[in-house]
Amino acid sequence: MATQRILDFLATRRPAGPCLVVDLDVVQENYRAFERALPYSKIYYAVKANPAPEILRLLASLGSCFDTASVNEIEMALDAGATADRISYGNTIKKERDVARAYELGIRLFAVDSVEEVEKIARAAPGSRVFCRVLTDGEGAEWPLSRKFGCVPAMAVDVLRHARSLGLDAYGVSFHVGSQQTNLDAWDRALGDAKMVFDTLANEGIVLRMVNMGGGFPTRYLRDVPAASAYGEAIFEALSRHFGNRLPETIIEPGRGMVGNAGVIKSEVVLISKKADNDNVRWVYLDIGKFGGLAETMDEAIRYPIATPHDGDATAPCILAGPTCDSADVLYEKTPYPLPLSLSIGDEVLIAGTGAYTTTYSAVAFNGFEPLRAYVI
Ligand SMILES: *Cc1c(COP(=O)(O)O)cnc(C)c1O
Repeated sequence: MATQRILDFLATRRPAGPCLVVDLDVVQENYRAFERALPYSKIYYAVKANPAPEILRLLASLGSCFDTASVNEIEMALDAGATADRISYGNTIKKERDVARAYELGIRLFAVDSVEEVEKIARAAPGSRVFCRVLTDGEGAEWPLSRKFGCVPAMAVDVLRHARSLGLDAYGVSFHVGSQQTNLDAWDRALGDAKMVFDTLANEGIVLRMVNMGGGFPTRYLRDVPAASAYGEAIFEALSRHFGNRLPETIIEPGRGMVGNAGVIKSEVVLISKKADNDNVRWVYLDIGKFGGLAETMDEAIRYPIATPHDGDATAPCILAGPTCDSADVLYEKTPYPLPLSLSIGDEVLIAGTGAYTTTYSAVAFNGFEPLRAYVI
């Protein structure tokens, strides 16, 4: 829920309109928790989760590295004080001219999942380190990543072999177990696949050195999630089981787990109404919806905790919707959201756990609504 600093900021500054407030102290605590939980891993913050310059600067000063997906994100990380050797270009889908630009900026670490992409890297970023992403099933994740990224482990062998033959440094294997992953075993299966790629290539004299274990670390929404330390233990056990005493270098790329619980969105109830006199659910319309930053309510995947000024009063289920004229702009309908019967038009509500994947998902001016404003304190 909202920290005292966020509540004080909202009470004194009274910003107009919907906005996100991020507490940097929480980001710092999350960074330290990851360091403690996985002391042998390097932390590459996934910039896309929240690229606010204040967050990037804080993380850069704490020693974080950065996982980026575009030239713009690389420049943001550099501007925040990270040196190029602390930045990975982790998108497996890159234009060759963007690879060339990244190389010019000093980036030497690239993700691939196909021989076609390897050829671009070999031409535009000669000699760089590459890691190949393998598919995972995403089982157990509340925001799974589908089959868009990665290839089967047997193909990863071919991709990395090809990289070596083109003069690149075949550095390792990556995976992402799916975002908001609450199953601690998810990393175990993926690490087994990674080890298979390591072993197959080792037999050909190609010695991989790194496993990039991706993101997926959850934020607490309505349900409790295991602590970073529990993830650390499960992952260390899985690493040891598969790699024995010869642990590879490892990287983690937390996005949601680094910033999700650091942010709160302040929103206002615009309308409460019914569609018929005998309706038993109220429609509650907020001044923020899917296009204002709450895109992760798609398929009702992420269910945010919502605090109102009337918490403790009797509640009844509501359909919660955004303010735009797109009928897809409904947040929770299949599973209605319980809200106080005393909730009124004009009330302010606080949507917690919104530090990740909100500002970056907000449309620029759909229906004339401003993109989500953010304050980082
Ligand atoms: C989005 C992304 C992440 C961050 O994922 P979270 O589930 O938010 O931790 C990490 N690595 C890559 C390659 C990503 O695309």
